[in-house]
Amino acid sequence: MLKKIFPFLLCAFCFTSVFAQKMQSPDEFLGYKLGSQFTSHYRLTDYFRYVAATSKQVRLVQYGTTNESRPLMAMFIASAENIGKLESIRANNLRLAGVDKTAAASTGAPVIVWLSYNVHGNEPSSSEAAMQTLYDMANPANQRAQAWLKNTVVVIDPCLNPDGRERYVNYYNSVKGATPNTDPASREHNEVWPGGRVNHYYFDLNRDWAWQVQKETQERMALYNKWLPQIHVDFHEQGYNSPYYFAPAAQPFHRDITEWQKEFQTTIGKNNAKYFDQNGWLYFTREEFDLLYPSYGDTYPIYNGSVGMTYEQGGIGAGLAVITRTGDVLTLADRITHHHSNSLSTIETAAEHAHKAVQEFKKYFDSATAAPVGDYKTYVIKNDNDDNLAALSKLLDQNGIRYRMGSRGSFNGFDYFTGKNAQFTITAKDMVISAYQPKSVLLNVLFEPKTFLADSNTYDITAWSLPYVYGLRTYGVKDAIQLTAANTAKPAKEQTVNNPYAYICTWRSVEDVKFLAALLNEKIKMRFSERSFEVSGQQFAPGSLIIAKAGNERPDLDELIKRTAAKFGRKPLPLSSGFVEKGADLGSGTVRYIKPPKIMVIAGTGVAAENMGEVWHFFDQQIGFPITIVRHSDIGKVKLADFNVIILPDGPYEDFKDERMANWVKDGGKLIAMGSSIKQLTEKQGFAIKNADSLQADKDKRKDKPEVKIYEDRQRDAFNNNVSGAIYKVDLDNSHPLAFGYPDFYYTLKLDDSLYGLLDEGWNVATLKKDAFVAGLVGNKSRQKLNKGGLLFGVQNLGRGSVVYMADDPLFRGFWENGKLLFCNAVFMVGQ
Ligand SMILES: [Zn+2]
Repeated sequence: MLKKIFPFLLCAFCFTSVFAQKMQSPDEFLGYKLGSQFTSHYRLTDYFRYVAATSKQVRLVQYGTTNESRPLMAMFIASAENIGKLESIRANNLRLAGVDKTAAASTGAPVIVWLSYNVHGNEPSSSEAAMQTLYDMANPANQRAQAWLKNTVVVIDPCLNPDGRERYVNYYNSVKGATPNTDPASREHNEVWPGGRVNHYYFDLNRDWAWQVQKETQERMALYNKWLPQIHVDFHEQGYNSPYYFAPAAQPFHRDITEWQKEFQTTIGKNNAKYFDQNGWLYFTREEFDLLYPSYGDTYPIYNGSVGMTYEQGGIGAGLAVITRTGDVLTLADRITHHHSNSLSTIETAAEHAHKAVQEFKKYFDSATAAPVGDYKTYVIKNDNDDNLAALSKLLDQNGIRYRMGSRGSFNGFDYFTGKNAQFTITAKDMVISAYQPKSVLLNVLFEPKTFLADSNTYDITAWSLPYVYGLRTYGVKDAIQLTAANTAKPAKEQTVNNPYAYICTWRSVEDVKFLAALLNEKIKMRFSERSFEVSGQQFAPGSLIIAKAGNERPDLDELIKRTAAKFGRKPLPLSSGFVEKGADLGSGTVRYIKPPKIMVIAGTGVAAENMGEVWHFFDQQIGFPITIVRHSDIGKVKLADFNVIILPDGPYEDFKDERMANWVKDGGKLIAMGSSIKQLTEKQGFAIKNADSLQADKDKRKDKPEVKIYEDRQRDAFNNNVSGAIYKVDLDNSHPLAFGYPDFYYTLKLDDSLYGLLDEGWNVATLKKDAFVAGLVGNKSRQKLNKGGLLFGVQNLGRGSVVYMADDPLFRGFWENGKLLFCNAVFMVGQ
């Protein structure tokens, strides 16, 4: 109270000296005991700023802001001696990794421990623990921590997903009573859609480390890759009935994980266990959380030379207190205590082994550069599509993987598209990546055609090889290749036309879509050609965009096209006449007008938030085109005729009004059904889609006799019917608008074994044939089912409208680059 009344008095006479003597603990600063309530994100950042202003051993960095404008922060904590030398410690660390070769590295450097909290917003105890950990580490009176800091630099990122965390905390606070209700049935333990796990656009940030689709990840990784810590911990929570989980991790391990990385996980795990044993807390290790998919907060650091780990406290949905299955009350305070204990214990272990950890870090990168892992030492990516190649370059840049453009010569290598060895040539436009570089492990993990699997029991997708993700023909060469100076390509002459009659633009990438979207937003009338044609000596494939002066009579048209083209790196070809050399003229009936889409996207309970978020983020952030998001439960109040495109993201959709939707389609609407939303339409009047296996499955069921199953094998048996994110090669009918801009094949990521029967009436655009499997883990029964073949992407004409069925997700986690155009075809090209 005194402070409130006389702040200036205190300030003038004793404020500084009070701070110099004693740093406030989180409890003192916040005015409540940690664990007695959830801390709002702004109070969390207040405490970090307070410590930054008070302690002489910390540096606070704001490395970004979230989509909802909350700050993203990292606090660096070091000894009084090291804190002034942070920049030289960082530079030395990059020299240890061989990323910076300007000077020799010192191995007497401190070990860097990076602690990441609360990547999943509704796993909130870890951010609370981050404050207590910061206090202990930055408080000069804490002798134990001071001793560790002699050879350790600690980085604390208190909250990786502030928007998700606030969504959870605000929800919880809005429904809690005067005392917490411990009954699991209480609404305070059951979040509403979409929940706080994900970020603003419903992306799981713990699946985004390598792809960096989301703002938070992009900003964080820019800082992370400037540091490359030796130890990284990602703090999570799991279901509240589970005991605590910490490293060592579970199988499968990727084979590129080194002995040291495994060994030191165990060393750290044993030290964590020591404190858990002392306190009688339950825990488990080596089960459930594997190390394979490269975009997690444990694997990504591992593939970048760190000992990366996930720690999981039981606690999702637990609120301030909940009764667990064993009848115990789990409180927020308990959860904070456990995460805090492991935070300190990890730093302690790192400090004890600092020298060894730094030496091993150097060894990891020395070996990565001199003797890279993996079958291929060189990758050559053919430039069949400039835009997709540019997108790949961006991803490599974000991950610090080096490459060069262009060379000359003829080589032999593994062709990713045919699965066979073949002779090929390199030209000036192609990309060449040598594995002899510091990031060669990450390079191998991202490029190996088939992910190495030690075990089938995994947590996530098992295939992500980038040539398939980007749809770029790639060759893997077993040796280093001598690069020769490439013949420089002559820049194409820009054609100038006075007062153009029309412009033509290519249609083969998301960049072309951005150009289209920007012009549609300017109310420009856009058309596309259904057939290929040749004009001014240039070939244009089906789908090529046409902007005719006719109908677009505005004085700034040429200027607008020029400006928009420059913005998106497009080179529209100006024409003085609509008379083409080969193919149909610009006024032909095969040149279609693109009716500007008025798009509704369905959201809310019953819709898979992450797939809906991919659609939202794609329109909002990637191509800049307006959509209206309507809750499924509100659809009865909406005039459907105001829209001409409705997108149903993946989801089980309770109480789906198929008849109303069918009538809207018949009146000229276009319905795009993604993933399991298609199941709402099977066997429904008007909709032609049916399951591929409905007849066969019934027969199989009758044939199936009970069999003796081994109880212990039950988890593994379940994998028979499982597709852990596998890549299949799909046949495309690229004369159909749904496949414009593609060759006659596409690599799809299958997340389940759903497959549909060929449409009797309609267009079977993407079909799966026998033996189309490329990579990833598919259970035996699912593999048999998929091998029978069927429909994945198709279009049905219904009345004056159409229905687009997309069984697989072409926008998966925003990183499946080559699927995006397929989705855009469904939105902009089909049914015009
Ligand atoms: Zn989590």
